[in-house]
Amino acid sequence: MRYVTSTSTGAKRGYLVFGQPLLEAPEIEEVLASMRTAWLGTGPKAAEFERRIAAYKGVPHAVALNSCTAGLHLSCLVLGLQPGDEVITTPMTFCATINAIVHAGATPVLADVDPVTMNVDPEQVRRRITRRTRALLPVHFAGRAAAMDELMAIARQHDLRVIEDCAHAIETEYRGQKVGTIGDLGVLSFYSTKNIVCGEGGVVLTKDADLARRTKTLGLHGMSHDAWKRFSDDGYRQYDVEEIGFKYNMMDLQAAIGMHQILRVERYWQRRLVIWDRYMRELADLPIGLPAPFAAEERHALHLFTVQIDRAVCGRDRDTVMRLMHEQKIGTGVHYRSIPNMTAYRERFGWRAEDYPAAAKIGENTLSLPLSPRLDDDDVSRVIAALRRAVGAS
Ligand SMILES: *Cc1c(COP(=O)(O)O)cnc(C)c1O
Repeated sequence: MRYVTSTSTGAKRGYLVFGQPLLEAPEIEEVLASMRTAWLGTGPKAAEFERRIAAYKGVPHAVALNSCTAGLHLSCLVLGLQPGDEVITTPMTFCATINAIVHAGATPVLADVDPVTMNVDPEQVRRRITRRTRALLPVHFAGRAAAMDELMAIARQHDLRVIEDCAHAIETEYRGQKVGTIGDLGVLSFYSTKNIVCGEGGVVLTKDADLARRTKTLGLHGMSHDAWKRFSDDGYRQYDVEEIGFKYNMMDLQAAIGMHQILRVERYWQRRLVIWDRYMRELADLPIGLPAPFAAEERHALHLFTVQIDRAVCGRDRDTVMRLMHEQKIGTGVHYRSIPNMTAYRERFGWRAEDYPAAAKIGENTLSLPLSPRLDDDDVSRVIAALRRAVGAS
């Protein structure tokens, strides 16, 4: 790894920081160019980023925002979710998925995951449907496609809208379809640890021109279209406020990074595939669980390589292994402690972890290894050797 930036991020010398992005010369130049022209906010680079994302995903509309969380929130709003409406989602996700539903005024309902795919289990979804259910919000966990055929069938049967949380899944394909284009709306994240980054950023994908227009309007205060141009060299334009919106727009400074990163999405995926295959091969003899193999007709985005550390099998628990990795200067992650483990949701919704046993078990045992395209072969060897020692295998 090139450790040149480590000191500037405050990282300790030689410490392998989990999820550090690879930033290359074109985006560094593009950010500098934005600085030099002094156009920092939403503008032509955000528009170009939208075009490139739409082309990559093969979808007519892509709306750039300042985060995936913002995109999930707006998705709930443009679908017209109302207080009392229920949205079924997964307990094996980042808190933002749940928060977006709550902030839209709707009620999140959890359905447990399949212990193998770690994605929401369609059978559990069926059991949670009530008269108030209005939408499904699956997450393509770690980059593995959720069971979209089954979920879309449930949605058709019960007249539900579908929002796909694609924060892990920009490259994911499901039975020949790119995820994020299967439901009504799909939302990507370009947060610093994701497969392609803007630092902070999100994009809402949709085939529906009307949903795209409303997402764009609500994401910029509810102002009439293209209001960002009001201070450009085209001369001042009057605008109307059509709806009471939010300040969720993406800056050109953010798009300056993402518009070059997206051109390398395939190369980075190939690099992660090499790392993934080494982990699968070189960790196979350890007393830990490895990710399930991929179905042939699917493309996994390889966002998270998660191992399962079951104390009864391994002799050490996840937190101990994580500490032993840290002591060997390897940063790891936990994706995720299950949502009912978090205080605020327990207090608000009365959720209990034991009601979602598959997610609870993953939440206790799971550990994510570094999988950034920044890692060179020596880094990967270091991670493997450190994990072997941490689980007591060498
Ligand atoms: C990262 C993440 C989000 C939030 O993305 P931001 O761009 O940081 O708002 C939402 N859902 C999942 C599953 C994530 O991993």
